[in-house]
Amino acid sequence: TRTRCSVLIVGAGISGITAAKVLAENGVDDVVILEAADRIGGRIRKEEFGGVTVELGAGWIAGVGGKQMNPVWELAGRSNLRTCFSDYSNARYNIYDNTGKIFPSGVAAESYNKAVESAIAKLRNQDSDNPGDDETTTGPRSPIDLAIDFILHDFEMAEVEPISTYVDFGEKEFLVADERGYEHLLYKMAETFLFTQQGKILDTRLKLNKVVRKLQHSRNGVTVKTEDDCIYEAQYVILSASIGVLQSNLNISFSPPLPRWKTEAISNIDIMVYTKVFLKFPHKFWPCGPDKEFFIYAHERRGYYTFWQHMENAYPGSNILVVTLTNGESQRIEAQSDEETMREAMEVLRNMFGHDIPDAVDILVPRWWNNRFQRGSYSNYPIYVDRQLVDDIKAPVGRIFFTGEHTSEKFNGYVHGGYLSGVETTKALLEEMLAEKERKTENHQSF
Ligand code: FAD
Repeated sequence: TRTRCSVLIVGAGISGITAAKVLAENGVDDVVILEAADRIGGRIRKEEFGGVTVELGAGWIAGVGGKQMNPVWELAGRSNLRTCFSDYSNARYNIYDNTGKIFPSGVAAESYNKAVESAIAKLRNQDSDNPGDDETTTGPRSPIDLAIDFILHDFEMAEVEPISTYVDFGEKEFLVADERGYEHLLYKMAETFLFTQQGKILDTRLKLNKVVRKLQHSRNGVTVKTEDDCIYEAQYVILSASIGVLQSNLNISFSPPLPRWKTEAISNIDIMVYTKVFLKFPHKFWPCGPDKEFFIYAHERRGYYTFWQHMENAYPGSNILVVTLTNGESQRIEAQSDEETMREAMEVLRNMFGHDIPDAVDILVPRWWNNRFQRGSYSNYPIYVDRQLVDDIKAPVGRIFFTGEHTSEKFNGYVHGGYLSGVETTKALLEEMLAEKERKTENHQSF
């Protein structure tokens, strides 16, 4: 079958849905959205676990309370999304060693300040093109230093470097704790321009389980082929697949191939893998008072079940713990059985809380790295971004326009980055469509 449309959007995550909404608001309705998965949302994804709704992907609305309003916070307000304030800056005072002792706050603070200073010095060196001493390669470091290095670099770079999200939108973060999930925001958006009934999208312009395999593009348009051999012909394509998907050749092929400046830019962006492992217990055995939501385990291996959070603030009585692993550790646990991961996590918890604690009764391990429609959690730009890199990542190639979290210069890695990229890419496309229309009228008039 062949379907024709004016704009075809690949991907129904926050950026793709936003793009479709902006098109609709500007009178472009002749749109088809192809989504590989059987649902919308992409990296915003909830699942029922241990009697509550947990977020496997994005969990926080980051950047709230500043001078400018975070558009995702605004959407959350309009959709009555349930959230709770979350503050992990105290996590560094809840660091356990492997005998269950909490490091004295003075020791933790000293290690923390040292880590911040050295990260700042390292950045300055990079900035002046003088590599200097690379902290990560010098000498063995103690478990507490490794734990702090992990939370600093994998969670809180804001202490080292101004991050646009916090500078522009504010320093507060809110955890989404809503049974309808973070994805409720996407359904609320979709409702405004797609035909929906009882919370279900029934509009035929959204096509689920459609895996795009090939984009054949020319001066006249783009032909899109899917894995199930459907063909779509579009004037323009908005491609929102993640940087991980773009980097892996197995996924989408381009004919003619993408130019070198584009493929180089794509390969120059790192992918962060970020995994939240959820564990359900028959009862709680961890402290729950103020400033105890987050705690840290100091181990001789960096990032080994380091960062913990209890879910009592979000869902009191849920008896759920979340431990976050990143990059190599994420890939390692994705490759092993969940039973093995539960065994490792239990051993760590017993080191912290003693041998009498109960076994977990259930575990949930998301696999973002092995998901072929994601290949990672989010883009991780070098701290000093060279202008050309961002320009190249977001620049269209002919009639193919790129969008998604990774194309947001200031907010890459975030939900609002995805949202704002959808807006920005679509504005650029609308301008191009207008320019093309004008060119056609001029040509027509000259005959
Ligand atoms: P996506 O959501 O990935 O949308 C792209 C869509 O394209 C997907 O639905 C995918 O299935 C589809 N697709 C891919 N390939 C094809 C194909 N070949 N054919 C058709 N469709 C295809 N952000 C925050 O703001 N706060 C957080 O707390 C936070 N935590 C996170 C934790 C995790 C574990 C992860 C994974 C992400 C987190 N993020 C967080 C980042 C945030 O989720 C993303 O930045 C954002 O959701 C990306 O939206 P997107 O539209 O760019 O991409």
